[in-house]
Amino acid sequence: MKIKFWGVRGSIPVPGAGTVKYGGNTSCVEVTGDHGECIVLDTGTGSRLLGIDLARRKPIPPIHLFISHTHWDHIQGFPFFVPCYVPGTQIEVRGPVHFAESRTLQDVFEMQMKYEFFPISNEQLSAKITYESLKETELRIGDIQIRTQFMNHPILSLGYRITQNGRTMVYTGDHEPYHNVFTDKKPAVSNAEDDLLFGDVDRTVKDANQRLVDFIRGAHLLIIDCQYTPEEYRTSRRNWGHSSWDSCLQWMREGAVERMALTHHDPMRSDEALEALLADARAAAAKEGLDPARIVLAQEGGEIHV
Ligand SMILES: [Zn+2]
Ligand SMILES: [Zn+2]
Repeated sequence: MKIKFWGVRGSIPVPGAGTVKYGGNTSCVEVTGDHGECIVLDTGTGSRLLGIDLARRKPIPPIHLFISHTHWDHIQGFPFFVPCYVPGTQIEVRGPVHFAESRTLQDVFEMQMKYEFFPISNEQLSAKITYESLKETELRIGDIQIRTQFMNHPILSLGYRITQNGRTMVYTGDHEPYHNVFTDKKPAVSNAEDDLLFGDVDRTVKDANQRLVDFIRGAHLLIIDCQYTPEEYRTSRRNWGHSSWDSCLQWMREGAVERMALTHHDPMRSDEALEALLADARAAAAKEGLDPARIVLAQEGGEIHV
């Protein structure tokens, strides 16, 4: 498989001199299978450039678009995705949807193209577009196996594990470690009563984190949400739904992951600050006996072969 990053920024696009090197577009990853299959993970603003690139390929391949979740920074490029306007193009959109009992994935995609927000409606797109709401599941595209798992984010969010010919990549989408929200307010000195109250929650949290480690286990490439430094996360970003490099490192080690690409870069982080973050993560990795070169920053336009 060939992985290409079209958007690596979290939350909001940040063009400008400070982000030229790693890129300012929001989440979009292209996975090209060994037989030319076209899988797209998220359609943030980076998907605009991918769409232009795809439209130049003749013919445009069938596009399998998987959405981690429907926050803006993961779907906002869709109305600008050129293949949507090319008759005969096939686009299958799959992803989770909150409040699934009252709205479908298609409803959510149509909402962002309502005329209050955008001049062209979803019905005017001339490609053949289908929508499927996903939960945790397994599916196949040719000989590519795809497994999904819910991640920890303030909205239903799926990670994707993609395997072809014995090679595996995992994309977490937005995610932070599970933790016991009750103990955030728990007194420093615990007592037997607290343990009785919080004991089961601790176990549930531990099991949920273990489930994530199992999901990423043995991946040849893990593309992981790493929006924060450990300090930012600890002091002011907990429960915002994103991770810091120390927990990424822990998952890499526990899941025996071969290579890790940090992504969903914070919009406030300049190229220079991103490289400082990487240097800290690599130094910590080296201390743990991990090869620092196995950790990289996702970079707009960058490619990794898995
Ligand atoms: Zn995001
Ligand atoms: Zn999000």
